[in-house]
Amino acid sequence: MSEEICENIKKVTDRIAQACSRAGRHPEGVQLVAVSKLKPLQDIKTAFGCGQLHFGENRARELQDKMEAYDEDRVQWHMVGNLQTNKIKYMVERVNWIHSIEKKKYLREIEKRASRIDRVINTLVQINISGEDQKSGCTAGDVKEILEYAQGLQHVRVRGLMGMATFVDPDQAEQVRPQFQMLRRIRDEHRSYESGNVRLEHLSMGMTNDMEVAIEEGSTMVRVGRAIFGERNYE
Ligand SMILES: *Cc1c(COP(=O)(O)O)cnc(C)c1O
Repeated sequence: MSEEICENIKKVTDRIAQACSRAGRHPEGVQLVAVSKLKPLQDIKTAFGCGQLHFGENRARELQDKMEAYDEDRVQWHMVGNLQTNKIKYMVERVNWIHSIEKKKYLREIEKRASRIDRVINTLVQINISGEDQKSGCTAGDVKEILEYAQGLQHVRVRGLMGMATFVDPDQAEQVRPQFQMLRRIRDEHRSYESGNVRLEHLSMGMTNDMEVAIEEGSTMVRVGRAIFGERNYE
C-alpha cells in the first residue's frame, strides 16, 4: 500500500481540482486533511515525504501516540473524532485543529489547558448534519450559545463548522448534497457572531465518497482517509 500513497494523494488532489473547477473555485481554498486513523506512522511519513502536511486522527490515544512519535514541526495535526473532556489534556500540547466541538465545556477545557502552555488552538463546531442518532455533533440551535461563549476565550479560536454526512456509496453522493447545503447555511446564519477569536471562514466537510459534492457546496477542508491510505481493516 505504502508505495501507492503518493499516487493516491495526486489522484485526490486532481479530484479536488476538478470539483473546484466545476464550482468556479480556486483549489488553494480547499485544504486536504489526510485521515490516517488505524494506519501506521510509516504511512504518515510517506505522505509527508510527498508533500502532505495536514493529518487527521479520530481517537485521542492514537493521535497522542502519533504526535509524540513523529517529531516534525511542519506537520499540522487535526483531531477529527469525538472528544471527551478528560482526553483533551493529552492533545493540547501539539494538536493544531480540533474539528469536533459540540459543547461549551470542551472549549472551556481547551482554554484552560492551552492557556497554561500559552498555545492557541484552532477549532470547528461540529454539527450533526445527518440527523442520525449515532453521529455526534450539536444541533443548529446550539451554535449561537457555543459561539457567544467562544468570543470571550483567548486560547481557542473557532474557525468554522464541521459536519459528517450520511455514509453513502460514491455513486450516491448526490443524496447528501442537502446536508452540506445545510451546514453552509448554518454558517452563513451565524456570521454575525464573528468577533474576537470567532471567525467562520471554514467548512470541514467531505470525505472519500462525497468530497466533490462537499467542495461544490463550499467545503474548505476535506477529510480523506481511504482514498489515500486504502481501506481500514478494523473499525
Ligand atoms: C474516518 C473519518 C474520515 C475519513 O473517511 P474516509 O471515508 O476514509 O475518507 C473523515 N472524517 C472523520 C471524522 C472520520 O472519522
